[in-house]
Order: sequence, then structure tokens, then C-alpha cells
Amino acid sequence: MTHPTIIAVGELLVEFVSHNKGCDLKQLSEYSGPYPSGAPAICIDQAARMGSKTHIFGSVGTDNFGVSLIDRLQSNSVDTSGIEQIASKSTGVAFVSYFENGNRTFIFHLNNTAADALDRRTITLPPGPLVMHFSGSSLGNPHLRAAIEQTATSVIQQGGQISCDPNVRPELMSDGNVKSVLTDLISKSSFLFPSSSDLEFLYPDSSEEHAVVQLLDLGVETIALTRGEQGSIIYTKDADPLILSGHKVEELDPTGAGDCFCGTFLAMMAQGNTIESSGTYANAAGAIAVTRRGPMEGNSDRSSIEAFMNTNPASV
Ligand code: ATP
Ligand code: MG
Repeated sequence: MTHPTIIAVGELLVEFVSHNKGCDLKQLSEYSGPYPSGAPAICIDQAARMGSKTHIFGSVGTDNFGVSLIDRLQSNSVDTSGIEQIASKSTGVAFVSYFENGNRTFIFHLNNTAADALDRRTITLPPGPLVMHFSGSSLGNPHLRAAIEQTATSVIQQGGQISCDPNVRPELMSDGNVKSVLTDLISKSSFLFPSSSDLEFLYPDSSEEHAVVQLLDLGVETIALTRGEQGSIIYTKDADPLILSGHKVEELDPTGAGDCFCGTFLAMMAQGNTIESSGTYANAAGAIAVTRRGPMEGNSDRSSIEAFMNTNPASV
């Protein structure tokens, strides 16, 4: 049987990371970048590195930020024919800075850039079975939201599956429609990758356990709760939760770990692996991701993940 192609729809950005903690994107600081970024791009790059067939739909400018994004994705064998290059707009940009306590702040240049100029009418799905991944961070933007909703409908119509990382970013979600669109798309999703703060956004009055029960009742088949250094817990309707402890690593830049987790998990599942094995690899891939600066720089292939798991087993 053909393995499903994993597709992603959403923002393509380059990211600049401040080297000084606490600069709050307000004080002078040194930055490195442009790092290829955008949650859907990080996930799809990782799925490609895991050996899956992948395809991304998004848009960039014709500037070198856009060129660097396309080059990176192509170098890891992502099919980039669905990336529109828009000469009249600049490629989207994000800036991130951390605080001593691990919190972070973002400034996104996404609205009215090439990143949100994706023309949904031009999206042509690849043939064969599909899993479509999207990030909730895209839904605050009306153009991206329309592209994601329309593509999800087409994927479901042709028997494909949806994967959602709620990835709630307050900076991107001031639009009041976001929550209802996100909840509707979650009810159509087979895979969901929330963090604890995502669960709190979705169900502010529920415990984590109760939020998970409500999501399984909505019809989500597999929920991987991502828990940072504590690892992850995978919930399904018919089995006990699978608790995966975190690997001990030195965290340099945690942005992108969740997307890397999603890309690894989806690729492993698409290739016919069990939930346990897919979760174990994703949990390790996420740990590797935080040790490198830059949101997509910490992505890795299957053999590096296996080498990491051998030398750095998850703590019990
Ligand atoms: P983001 O949205 O910023 O990409 P997230 O909140 O969705 O992140 P995290 O929980 O931070 O996702 O990370 C995803 C996974 O990566 C975790 O479930 C865990 O497996 C791994 N991971 C993240 N941070 C660490 C860490 N400090 N040590 C070990 N593993 C980590
Ligand atoms: Mg996330």
C-alpha cells in the first residue's frame, strides 16, 4: 500500500533569534538569522527528513529570505511546487527573544506580507492518500484561515486525514473567530498535538484530563500532549495513556520543538509504525530540537534520532 503523502498549508517565515535574554525585542541586541521557519514549514521539513513524501502550500516573496526558505525545504526533499513566489510582497519575518525564566516574546511580520498572500484557488492536491497538517498559529490570519479550511475540506472529501497542532500564539490570535474555527477543525482531525497551554485556551474551565476526554469525544483519534522537558503523553480512546518521559538535554532554543515532534510522529505513522514507536521517536526528536538555535535547525533524520536515543535514553 502507498504511504500517505504529508502536506502542510500555512505561513512560511524567516526568523531572527535574539542572543540576549530579556531584551524583550525592545533593547538593542544581537540576533542570528534568517532561519527558515513557520510552524507548518518546520513540521513538513521534519517529516521529509524522516523519509516521508511531503508537500507544502504557502507563499514567499522573490527576495532572498524566500529563496533561502525554498532552498532549505528542497534540500530536504520537500516538494515545493506549491510555494507561490510573489514579486510584489516581502517574505514574512518573525523575531523572538527569551527571558531568563524560559518564557519568550515574538513579533510577527505576517499580515500583508507574502506569507499571507497565498491564493487558495491555486492549491492543487497531490494524488494518492493524504495527511494534511496545519498549525493553529495560522488561523488568526483570514487568508491563511480560508486556505486551510478549504484544503481541509478537500482532503477529507477524498478520504484523507487532518492533523492539527493548536500552537496557540496570543500574538497571532486576537481575532475573535479563531477559537471557533480551531474547534471546528479539531473536530475533523485525526491527530492533535496540544501543549498544556493549548488545552487551557481550548477548555479554560477544565482539567487537562477532562479536556483530553472532551477532545476524544469530539472524534480526535490520537492526542499527543507535548510537555516540554517532561516529554509527552499520548492518548487514544481505546488504550491507556502512553507516558513518554523527557530526555535530559541542555535547552538552547525551544521554538520549533513542537513542530519537529509533529513532523516526526506523522511521518512514522504514515510509514506504518505503531503509536508507541512513533511517539518514542517524536519525543526524542523534540529533545534534539531544543539543543540547537533556530526553529528548524534542530530537525534531524531517523538515524540521528536513533543514535541520540541510544546515548541519551529518556529519563524514567
Ligand atoms: P512550540 O509550539 O514552541 O514548538 P510546544 O509547546 O508545542 O512547542 P514542547 O512541549 O515545547 O512543544 O516540545 C515538544 C516536544 O519536544 C516535547 O513533548 C518533548 O518531547 C520535546 N522537548 C521539548 N523541550 C524539551 C526539553 N527541554 N527536554 C527534553 N525534551 C523536550
Ligand atoms: Mg506547539
